Amino acid sequence: MDQMEMDKRVSIAECENYEEASVEAALDKLFAPFGALDWVKPGMRIAIKANMVIARNPDKAATPHPVVARALTRRLVERGAEVVLGDSPGGPFSRALLESYYRVTKLNSITEEGGTLNYDFGETVVKVPQGKVIDEFFCCDFLLKADAIIDLCKLKTHGLMGFTGACKNMFGGVTGVHKAEYHYRFPEHGQFASMLVDICEFFKPTLSICDGIVAMEGNGPSMGDPRHMGVLLASFNPHAMDLAASYIIGFSAQDIPTLSDAVSRGLIPQHAHDLTVYGDMDAFRVTDFKHQPLGDIQVFGLKTQWFSDLAKALIVRRPVADDTCIGCGKCMEACPARAIIMKEKRPKIDRKKCISCFCCGEFCPTGAMKVYEPLVARILHAAQGK
Ligand code: SF4
Ligand code: SF4
Repeated sequence: MDQMEMDKRVSIAECENYEEASVEAALDKLFAPFGALDWVKPGMRIAIKANMVIARNPDKAATPHPVVARALTRRLVERGAEVVLGDSPGGPFSRALLESYYRVTKLNSITEEGGTLNYDFGETVVKVPQGKVIDEFFCCDFLLKADAIIDLCKLKTHGLMGFTGACKNMFGGVTGVHKAEYHYRFPEHGQFASMLVDICEFFKPTLSICDGIVAMEGNGPSMGDPRHMGVLLASFNPHAMDLAASYIIGFSAQDIPTLSDAVSRGLIPQHAHDLTVYGDMDAFRVTDFKHQPLGDIQVFGLKTQWFSDLAKALIVRRPVADDTCIGCGKCMEACPARAIIMKEKRPKIDRKKCISCFCCGEFCPTGAMKVYEPLVARILHAAQGK
């Protein structure tokens, strides 16, 4: 295929459960339209960038299931590749943090298949000459050192971006605490999405795989509800895979800022049905997947963040801690805008400082930090058909 030509190919395979044999068979079916894994050569160093947004048991559906990661590792090792799996979740990019994430998500089990876990915490400032909104970022060395990256994500909703898949997953290639700076620099959803696409395009993962066997709906990306979807997706084009995956859970490209940006750059077509899909995308589509309110609300052509504080209070979605809060303070540590203080073991949020990035919700261990949408915003979203 011509390098400059848009790669529209997406493969979809049914997989009912996380039985080893079912997953392995589904992965083989998934890879078949792409010449199996023929591009993998002996001695190749392959980094699996797994979405490890939070340290939760795989049954919670916040992270790719270890059986998928293990079956993938097995196939890669069979072909003579060296496999390293890693991520840089928010917070310090350190051994102490990563060890618990690997253990709790059970992704450490890839070592049983000959893979290794990343403990290289090096970072390098890399240039992004083609970037639309960024020109450099702090990049994880283990991804830079790889001959190829496999982007292993989960089919999930996302409080800030509506949907998270392959493109958003590559944000984890930015080292730990530096991610918070980007939330602060790009509080507007469209710009934040452009930054995500800049980073994904920098990495250009060779292959993207989405675990949608059990997806997450509702309060994603960390604390939503598991939902059985019975599907795996793969593509050489992360944005094409995201377009198909988001279509399956009831979105279209214009709903999701990263997809709209990818369309505007000519990376994907506008409509999922203009993709070249191996498999029956419509057979998996549901229309009742629980979404979160999406993106900015446009009122009279103005973005909400330009409004006065009063309008902001009336319109902008914001985090609110419910009664399941245990007062751990993790939300305060995660907040890039320093908008949270702990008072009497409860988070107190300064609305003026809050940039609605929902990092606090991602890090909340109990799911107490919910997205609150004011009544006016709900009415406006309804009027906009969202
Ligand atoms: S309070 Fe939560 S949503 Fe607001 S800026 Fe801080 S982390 Fe982001
Ligand atoms: S992270 Fe969650 S549980 Fe911990 S203080 Fe914040 S809202 Fe409460």
